[in-house]
Amino acid sequence: MSVLVVGTVAFDSIETPFGSAERILGGSASYFALGASFFAPVRVVGVIGKDFPQDYLDLFTERKIDIAGIKREQGDTFHWRGRYHEDINQRDTIELHLNVLAGFVPDLPDNYRDAEYVFLGNIDPVMQMEVLNQIRRLKLVVCDTMDHWIRESQDELKKVLKRIEMLVINDSEARLLSGYDNIVKAARAILRMGPKIVLIKRGEYGVLQFSDSSVFATPAYPLEEVFDPTGAGDSFAGGLMGHLARSGDSSEGGLRRAIVYGSVVASFTVEDFGVKRLTDVSLPEIEERYLRFVQLTDFHS
Ligand code: AMP
Repeated sequence: MSVLVVGTVAFDSIETPFGSAERILGGSASYFALGASFFAPVRVVGVIGKDFPQDYLDLFTERKIDIAGIKREQGDTFHWRGRYHEDINQRDTIELHLNVLAGFVPDLPDNYRDAEYVFLGNIDPVMQMEVLNQIRRLKLVVCDTMDHWIRESQDELKKVLKRIEMLVINDSEARLLSGYDNIVKAARAILRMGPKIVLIKRGEYGVLQFSDSSVFATPAYPLEEVFDPTGAGDSFAGGLMGHLARSGDSSEGGLRRAIVYGSVVASFTVEDFGVKRLTDVSLPEIEERYLRFVQLTDFHS
């Protein structure tokens, strides 16, 4: 089963305490697609400008990611500049240039419209809704968002939330969206907005999953060196959904295993700048770290 993603395909300029990089490949759809491609075929919907290099597109096609849904427009590519603090869990957006993303109207290739597993990556909720409206056979819709859209387009975002199964969101954004500081109250309030499952990403502290009937918690994989956390959340979602599409198992246990696969993929992402580690890690390395994760969390066998 293939996975469809809509999100940003971007230039990122990043500063962390360990170094910096200018205009490297980034964007929510890029990280998601690379993360999911270990497990399932992936189709990408997005927009790039005339300045976007072929080399970056080749990184997708080398991983057999379908880029027929990436439109090239006159104008410049979306550009994000972020700076991480000494405490690498904290970052500031220094620049955000929507460029060709402003006014982008997704128009899915015909063969994309039968997608069953859909990820509405971090992008304007109006565009997320546009994509949902063009798909005929939805099975699982997962959505991500961020503070920018919660502040600027909350009404539109709430319409999207009514139509999805799962929201993947980080802890500060969950607080912002719900108005509650307590993370359990925040998750319960978000469940009332529509999604059946809320996954709260807590950076190096892992993930909490809430539904009406269950709560599940996993740590993040403990790493000695984190170079660049950019894309951890998107590649987490990619690993999660790629694994769900591969297994077809949406039971409680199937979802828990997918969450751990997502956490494993994210743990590789942060080991190097940008998408570098995601493009050189192998599936056997992912499977090996998955088994280490199982050992890490086993306290009752
Ligand atoms: P993450 O670290 O998983 O939160 O995602 C980082 C990615 O989000 C970067 O590669 C950016 O290009 C992208 N990004 C930053 N701001 C936005 C925004 N407002 N909308 C969509 N994507 C964004």
